[in-house]
Parts: sequence; C-alpha cells; structure tokens
Amino acid sequence: MESQNFTIFPGSGQTSLRELCANLLEEQKINWPGLAAAHKGLANVQSRLLSGAGYDVCVQFNPARAVNSGAAVDEESIKNRPCFLCLHNLPREQKGILYKNEYLILCNPGPIFAEHFTVVHVQHQPQAIAASLYRLLGIAKDMSPDFAVFYNGPACGASAPDHLHFQAIPANILPLQKSKGSHFRLITDTKIKIYRGEGINRAALVFAGSDKDLLLTQFDRLLKTAQNALSISDEPMINVLCSYENCIWRIMIFFRSKHRPDAFYREGEQRIFISLGAIDMAGLIITPLELDYNRLDGESIRNIYTEVSLPEDMMNKIINEL
Ligand SMILES: [Zn+2]
Repeated sequence: MESQNFTIFPGSGQTSLRELCANLLEEQKINWPGLAAAHKGLANVQSRLLSGAGYDVCVQFNPARAVNSGAAVDEESIKNRPCFLCLHNLPREQKGILYKNEYLILCNPGPIFAEHFTVVHVQHQPQAIAASLYRLLGIAKDMSPDFAVFYNGPACGASAPDHLHFQAIPANILPLQKSKGSHFRLITDTKIKIYRGEGINRAALVFAGSDKDLLLTQFDRLLKTAQNALSISDEPMINVLCSYENCIWRIMIFFRSKHRPDAFYREGEQRIFISLGAIDMAGLIITPLELDYNRLDGESIRNIYTEVSLPEDMMNKIINEL
C-alpha cells in the first residue's frame, strides 16, 4: 500500500483514533463501490433472538459472509492462495490508518456491523496472541469506549490464520457483553479479577483490571497453564474479546475444542453452515444460509456451543492450576 493511502496514528494533530476510523469509513463508502455495496447489503441483514437457550443468543442471516464462514483454512489451502491481508494484495480502493507503525486499520469488506474494521499487522506473520496481546490492549484502549477489539486463534475462527490480525466492532453489541457479567462468577478477587462463565455452555473466562502489565503477565500464565493442562505446545484454541471502559480492560477468553461443529462437514440438508469465531461465541451466530437462519433454535445452539467448547473437566483443570 502506498503511503498516500493511509493516515498515521498517532498523528501530529489531536484527532482521536475513533474519529479517524469514522472518517475512513465515510471516505471508503464514497470511493470504494464494493464496500458501499456491502454496507447497503448489511441494511437488509435479518437477525432474531433465539429462545430456549437459557441465555441471550441471536442469529444473524448474512449471505455475504459465506466466503468467511466457508473459508478453507487447512495448511495446504492457505499455502496455495494469495494472502488477502498482505498489503500488496489489498483492493486498490482500500485505504487505512497506520497504527503505531505496526498495524493497519482497514474497513472490513464483509461487515457484520455498521462499523467493522480489520486491524492487520503490516508484516505477513502467523496469528499468535502471546506476543500481540499488548497491542490488542492498546488498540482496545485507543478505540474505547465505542469499540471492542477481538482476536480469533489460527485454528478457531481466523479466516487468515497465516496473517496476524484483529477486528474492531461496536462495543457492547454482543449478547454476552450486553449481559454485563450476569453469566459470570468471580473466582479470583485480586488486582486482576477473574470471572468464569456459568450456565452458558461455553468455557469462558474474563480477566478484568487496570494494570496492563499485570494483565499481560496473568494472561501469559493462563496460556502456559492451559498448554500444560492440555499437553500441547501450540497456542491453546482461544477467541479473545477485549473492551476498555472506565480505565478497566475486560478480556473475555473462550476456550475451544473445535473450530466448526461436525454438522458443518455433513452433506445436503444435514449440513449446518456456521463457523464460530469470537462474535459467534459471544452470542451472535452468523449464518450465510436462510435454511439455517430459520431452523436454528436455542436447543441446537446449546449443543453447538457445548460441542465446540473445551469440556468442563478440562476447564476445571486449567482453573485449578492457575
Ligand atoms: Zn499476509
């Protein structure tokens, strides 16, 4: 991407990152017909609240997301396709905000929300949270209080597992964030508070605190503890959703056992075309197919959440060792 195609943050002026993002989106909707069309399509997207799950969960019918939900993310397919997040492969109309010389904030060409950004590392390097969490926290703070920023692990939601990136979406728009902690129980009450999700069929923790270094240390410990408990050396399968409000970061972490439910790989009408990342895990299930939109109910979502989440006994093991 040529330098005239991005704005620099922090710049010499006083313009906030929030304002730069709003300006970028406005400009791109005018000068990039593909993005304008995607946002127009978003106005027709339907969503509904599912009943019977025991907690709030919504399903959004969004046909344009078929590309993302169906993305082949196996090693062979990834190796054989041009990386769509590398700067030299971006659409020529795309502009961005260069964040601290390290990430480029871009309008997401397949939006789920009226404001939806992809935050892409300027170098082609794999999705990995341990070394990038400090930036995720920084971006969440700089984009607060209007946005939440999330990370999808390379094997559980990222459609470009080979290129480090986050996404920014409106804060407090996802059911589990809106519920303001009612499905979470405090399990550790120190400088960093730790909460555990209860009765939501998902293995979820929240780390909350105002000390960034301490949060980073605790998160690192969590990753190492999970690796030990699961006897793995790779990054545990996680989705991380971070917000910043009143000087407090809240990091919601979903532990996963699978990227997609088995039904994703079935044939014909047996197939359920959903592929879960942070947005879905936080209570907004995206489906590109009307058939699924109409037939999913609270019961089926409970089963899908249970299937793709780390089993409770493993979660207990991680928490006990933490
Ligand atoms: Zn790349």
